[in-house]
Amino acid sequence: MIYFDYNSTSPVMREAREAWLETTEKISGNPSSMHEFGARAAAALLTAREKLAGFMGCKPEDIIWTSGATEANNTVMHHFSRTLDAKSEVWISPIEHPCVMESAQYYFGKRLRLIPVTQDGVIDLDWLTMELSDRRPGLIGVMAANNETGVIQPWREILSICRSYDVPFFTDAVQWIGKMPSKGLGDCDFVSGAAHKFGGPRGIGFLKIPHKKGAITPLLLGGKQERGVRAGTENVATIVSMLAALEIREKQISHNQHTLRGVWRDNFERELSRSLPEAIIVGAKSPRLWNTVSTLMPEGDKRHLWVVRLDKAGFAASTGSACTTGKEEPSHVLAAMGYKPAQAIRAVRFSAGWETTEADWDALAKVIVKVHNDLHHGHAHATA
Ligand code: PLP
Repeated sequence: MIYFDYNSTSPVMREAREAWLETTEKISGNPSSMHEFGARAAAALLTAREKLAGFMGCKPEDIIWTSGATEANNTVMHHFSRTLDAKSEVWISPIEHPCVMESAQYYFGKRLRLIPVTQDGVIDLDWLTMELSDRRPGLIGVMAANNETGVIQPWREILSICRSYDVPFFTDAVQWIGKMPSKGLGDCDFVSGAAHKFGGPRGIGFLKIPHKKGAITPLLLGGKQERGVRAGTENVATIVSMLAALEIREKQISHNQHTLRGVWRDNFERELSRSLPEAIIVGAKSPRLWNTVSTLMPEGDKRHLWVVRLDKAGFAASTGSACTTGKEEPSHVLAAMGYKPAQAIRAVRFSAGWETTEADWDALAKVIVKVHNDLHHGHAHATA
């Protein structure tokens, strides 16, 4: 079975597994405890914090460990709901992950505005600067890279626009971190990430907050952990494991190993466009993550069949984001890009990982042609 669904989650890499095991064996204390066991756990947390802060370029104290990006993103929206005045708006992109979109809708309702994206899936910077000359929101949130299309957002430019208008900037960097350099993310006011997208364990993530007192209002209450802003005993082994994974990813990125993988992906897309000219590659004109291909397949409303046939043929793909898999509504990301529901229901996403080889991409290109022929001719089973 060849895995092409890394944007939903990735296998835990060996080094991360070993780091988890070793930490579990050697560090048994609670980081909040005053004794030696506690001190050792606290020291492990501090080391992890320093490493992550070093990669992103922020202070170790600006990092809060969370159960994942969903919690981190909800924490940001909750904070602004408690601190902004009743008239302040929040502006986010319309292509955010549901954990940003739905928490923003929940907390801000009519005070939520969506910044348009272009047909190529990139935030409309002209719209943003024009609107900002007129009024100021209390927060701007735009993800670093989209989970469905892989389209990279100009977060550095948005950050600098936010700075010039004195508006806090939040970026969900879940799909960016571990695929692209983390450097510079620490300049953003709020940044979220999750280990399981880059070879770390599931159920652990972080939130980077501004370096000032009262920078975040706790979402979880009932403990003094994380300097009183996130209650609950820290999961030391998974945090250490997350940083073990990220250290390796940052090294691979610094050796430019992602660029080569981008070439393999591009070759796949060329082959796909040659063999299935009616297939549309979403966001093809935009800078995209090196691992993601979102395709509108030629056949109408057969995306689930595509995923099932590919699965039978030994390839794991998805119909879009993990969280919308199985639901019938067309993707909100594709809708925001101007695709009609009849087009959006053709979406199949392939997302590779660091372990994916050039041969895997080649094999995928071949099997797609077989599945297409089978679907086209109405055959009951895909070729295995
Ligand atoms: N943000 C983005 C862009 C994602 O892709 C995901 C997961 O798919 C999340 C947030 C939520 O992450 P988690 O499920 O680890 O909380």
